[in-house]
Amino acid sequence: MAKTILIVEDNESNMKMFEALLRLEGYETILSVDGKDVMDGVRVRRPDLIIMDIHLVDHSGLELTKRLKADPHLKNIPVVAVTAFAMKGDEEKILSGGCDAYLSKPIDISVFLATIKRFLAFGANPSPVSAVA
Ligand code: MN
Repeated sequence: MAKTILIVEDNESNMKMFEALLRLEGYETILSVDGKDVMDGVRVRRPDLIIMDIHLVDHSGLELTKRLKADPHLKNIPVVAVTAFAMKGDEEKILSGGCDAYLSKPIDISVFLATIKRFLAFGANPSPVSAVA
């Protein structure tokens, strides 16, 4: 069975790139362009991993992650945060908010894919490590 990855990303070109990369690797993808209904979608579809854009128009990817991690049935799904405009302190905030890894845009494709493979193999990491090189 192919692993399923939920991509939450409101930037169209990033979404297209993430989707194309992940499908090329053989993953199934579920897309959310606005973060709306993410909680319900995750409960129903149970993705193996979530790519979470932190800056969404109507939602905060960090708030969505906090809600996912507060749910005992969902908290073991690894969340890989992606964000542009990261400022000093943001990375710590993102990781302490429950994201299992953090990647800054523009995404380094090899780091992106290696991070996803690592979390799919080992599950959500109890001691989050930044994947930023
Ligand atoms: Mn965004």
